[in-house]
Amino acid sequence: MTFESLSTDEIQSLHSAQEEAYARLQAAGLTLDLTRGKPSPEQLDLSGDLLTEPGPDFRDGAGTDTRNYGGIAGNADLRATFAEIMQVPVDQVVAGDNASLAIMHDLVAFSLLKGTVSSPRPWSAEDEVVFICPAPGYDRHFAICEQYGIRMETVDMFEDGPDMDAVRELVQDPAVKGMWIVPTYANPTGAVVSEAVAQELATMETAAPDFRILWDNAYAVHHLTEQRTRTADILGLCEEAGHPDRPFVLASTSKITFAGSGVSFLGASADNIAWYTRLLGKRTIGPDKVNHLRHARFLPDVEAVHAHMDRHREILAPKFEAVLEILRDRLGGHDVATWTEPRGGYFVSLDVPDGTASHVVRLAKGAGIALTPAGASFPRGEDPRDRNIRIAPSFPSMDDLRAAMDGLATCVLLAASEQHLAS
Ligand code: PLP
Repeated sequence: MTFESLSTDEIQSLHSAQEEAYARLQAAGLTLDLTRGKPSPEQLDLSGDLLTEPGPDFRDGAGTDTRNYGGIAGNADLRATFAEIMQVPVDQVVAGDNASLAIMHDLVAFSLLKGTVSSPRPWSAEDEVVFICPAPGYDRHFAICEQYGIRMETVDMFEDGPDMDAVRELVQDPAVKGMWIVPTYANPTGAVVSEAVAQELATMETAAPDFRILWDNAYAVHHLTEQRTRTADILGLCEEAGHPDRPFVLASTSKITFAGSGVSFLGASADNIAWYTRLLGKRTIGPDKVNHLRHARFLPDVEAVHAHMDRHREILAPKFEAVLEILRDRLGGHDVATWTEPRGGYFVSLDVPDGTASHVVRLAKGAGIALTPAGASFPRGEDPRDRNIRIAPSFPSMDDLRAAMDGLATCVLLAASEQHLAS
């Protein structure tokens, strides 16, 4: 039963039913929140042992007193584990403080102020700097560009990565210096960059000699099924293609251990790492090595990381299943919305009829359900079709999640039927 196949009377009665459902929702006085892409308390409890580490044994594997200054590259054992996950040689991986976002910010700020190893001049000395922004994408990537006056060129994010026809055309412009990409279980669509797309990103010729890919692998091991999707080896591909300095590879334990007290990682060519640590060394004498040590003990190898992520999956997968089940049950028959069915990561991306996403978010707010603002996943917060809504299932309890999703479905149907009747 699609809207197209319904008579005006039938749509009118569907609309009345949704109005009644919406009035019941409002009367229920809900306070629900689908905005927070962060781990739930039960997930954080999985890493509770970190709170008792390192204890009195505060020396790392090399015998260094972790309480003191120094060691800009970070704990060697922890770097070895994440080097394997990031597919970067351990000597080319730096472990930082609690946020990979901070590293990304610094990479952009350093490039603007000082230029990269292959820049003829600092990016800020160029007439204009442009970044390619696959969308929908991660709002904080776009916020960094906005903050520093970097013009954003939006390209579509498909299931296998960014629209490469658009990317190939954009990189002909020497002002295009960089590109954001979340290669595995992208925020918010769950897309995974295929080997073929990664190969194209590595081999394409760019007019800027210092073009950079910020390969933000925030969800590298965050599988929702038993299939452990392997991220393409962007550094290896770029090296083979003769562009070893093109990628900056990012990762963090924010959604592995504690979101606010994890460890971040940067992997890149030896030259890029030397450049980064030289500039970083002016900003800090070294990272939080006590935190590194407790993480190195808690996650001693890659298998330990995978085993730990399996426990996250046990908590997260049923929540994603509940979201998809409610979307299918409530919206499936009406042909008014499409949504992603991610195999990992933290989000479900919902597309409602063009021109109704902001209205759906307003309706949900009116019923006590907080949704991420419509358009948040697009540069400048502007979704050109006003259709995308990001759903974050991880934080609410199962009961709250089900109630919020059911309410959201009512709002989608109400907005869609209103629009149909008005047209
Ligand atoms: N990158 C992506 C794609 C994210 O979705 C997030 C958090 O939502 C982050 C980075 C933040 O990572 P961190 O906590 O390491 O700064």
